[in-house]
Amino acid sequence: MDRKPLIAGNWKMNTDAASSAALAREVLQRTGRLRSVDVAVFPPFPLIPAVLRVLDGSAIGVGGQDLSAEAEGAFTGEVSATMLTSLGCGYVLVGHSERREYHLESDELVRRKVGRALDAGLVPIVCVGEKLAERDAGETFARVERQVRVGLDGLTAAQMARVVIAYEPVWAIGTGRTATPAQAEEVHEFIRNLLASMFGSDVAAATRILYGGSVKPGNARELMSQKDVDGALVGGASLSGEGFAAIAENAG
Ligand code: PEP
Repeated sequence: MDRKPLIAGNWKMNTDAASSAALAREVLQRTGRLRSVDVAVFPPFPLIPAVLRVLDGSAIGVGGQDLSAEAEGAFTGEVSATMLTSLGCGYVLVGHSERREYHLESDELVRRKVGRALDAGLVPIVCVGEKLAERDAGETFARVERQVRVGLDGLTAAQMARVVIAYEPVWAIGTGRTATPAQAEEVHEFIRNLLASMFGSDVAAATRILYGGSVKPGNARELMSQKDVDGALVGGASLSGEGFAAIAENAG
């Protein structure tokens, strides 16, 4: 099964009105011609319109870094799925480890957010991954299994066909410490087998599973050459147009 790689740049709480547009222009210039890989960027919420103006008409996707589990109403500070689609976003990150850690997001909340994203027509990129203590305790697979089972609970095969998963070992995010290609592949293969048991082998074979955690131009090719690694969710290195493009070029 051929899965088109996806390279997603999570800008986190970086850039401003001017620098987000400049970064988007550089990403467009450097990756706009790539056809064998999908590219998407995830700016902070208020900067999404500025980035969309630059990327309008291009193949580069834009997404939110989070969304509310609620549809609308008195939820101060929240951003809904339909707000994102009404701007022109196609993607949204769900359950990033920084949301889980600093905002105490549970697997159950992640499941509700996935439902909102799908109902609105967004592609959710559902982030899973173990902490260092969990890896050291031999709990990696159990932790990831719970995140996948609960986070995707009850989705139909048709819904699941629109979901992307990102495996991001928490100990590798923003630390400069990357999982070895073998460590990544072992968990990616585990997730794909789990998806097969939950949704059937066709859906599992078609689902893109990205790797995230200190991906850089220098390690991207080896990571993405693994059988079950279908692209990357890139944090720090996505803030350089040149570095991000080099990662995307290594994916095709
Ligand atoms: C991320 O934020 O999803 C991420 C993987 O960050 P970094 O690439 O900086 O480790």
